[in-house]
Amino acid sequence: MTSSSTPPPATTRPIAERHLFGPGPCNPYPEATLALASPLLGHLDPDFLAIMDETCDLLRYVWGTDNRRTLPLSATGSAGMEAAFVNTVEPGDVVVVAVNGLFGERMVDVAGRHGAQVVRVDHEWGRPVDVERVVAAHPSPKIIAAVHAETSTGVRSDIAALGAAKGDALLLVDAVTSIGGIELRADDWGIDIGYAGTQKCLGVAPGLAPFTISDRAFARRVEKPSSWYLDLGLLGGYVGEAAGAGKRTYHHTAPTAMVASLHAGLRRIADEGLEKVWDRHAEAGRLLQDGLEAMGLTLFAEEGSRLPELTTVRVPEGVDSAAVRGYLLERHNLEIGAGAGAFASSVWRIGLMGHNARPDRVALILAALEDALAHAT
Ligand SMILES: *Cc1c(COP(=O)(O)O)cnc(C)c1O
Repeated sequence: MTSSSTPPPATTRPIAERHLFGPGPCNPYPEATLALASPLLGHLDPDFLAIMDETCDLLRYVWGTDNRRTLPLSATGSAGMEAAFVNTVEPGDVVVVAVNGLFGERMVDVAGRHGAQVVRVDHEWGRPVDVERVVAAHPSPKIIAAVHAETSTGVRSDIAALGAAKGDALLLVDAVTSIGGIELRADDWGIDIGYAGTQKCLGVAPGLAPFTISDRAFARRVEKPSSWYLDLGLLGGYVGEAAGAGKRTYHHTAPTAMVASLHAGLRRIADEGLEKVWDRHAEAGRLLQDGLEAMGLTLFAEEGSRLPELTTVRVPEGVDSAAVRGYLLERHNLEIGAGAGAFASSVWRIGLMGHNARPDRVALILAALEDALAHAT
């Protein structure tokens, strides 16, 4: 300990280059990293506003939406979740939440904090959302909420089917780990409110929450939400609705460097082609999952619903999960994730997101894991 009147001694190490194969963040697209070193712009600079406008257009492209209210919120994915509920839930509103992992569980908590009467529909972890049970849970909910890609379990749920069955309810979807990695079509699937993050398959550092809301949902929003920062009505004057009009009102200082980085990452995805990017994730995930099974390991998520971008695999009997992860980090500069919740020490989570969704990364992981299993236990 030093006193506050003297500067602390420098004790941190130079930052090592890690392979980020956990549940996020992943190694960003090089274009997104380079953009962080661009000269900083003011948040009302016309050149910045052009970047912001184009970023919103690119976000519409990756969301698969024409929603004019599509914007990057200035906080991580969890703030997207908070914004989704705080802008749509009045005390007493019925919200049906499909819970099949940690993030569905968190939705229950957040919706409840905003006064929702939450009807939770629980599923076994590792399985996709059961659409029939979810829509049968309440006759007239205001909102039905679900996680598209459960990062805690590596499971994909069928949002298109949920959208087709939602009736008059608003469909609220967590797309944090699906956007930019697997098929996502907000408008075709009937998503009314969606939030995401930058550090998963979009391949950008953490810090922003891509958000979209339909006119239908916006018309049913809370007039004066209890959050000032995340009030979509106020934010609309700064991005989205005011786009191109040249009449922006200051709400908060947009993190301009992060927006420029997101812009570069999205541009990269658009240049490659979104469907090609989905295919690249699909191929990498398949190679990894086949490789893990060939090593004799057992995958955790239900077959047929496995995410390519986030693979869950069981820790073999007698193997110390944390020791293996520590060895991988120390010897191979390679990070993988522990399991979530009750599976913290019995499952590993391996992400192949964004720039990391490539066959050569798969080979690296498999070789490193083989080495770790031979030496770390
Ligand atoms: C990572 C994640 C979040 C939370 O995002 P943060 O950026 O960590 O705040 C929410 N939902 C899912 C499905 C996630 O994977």
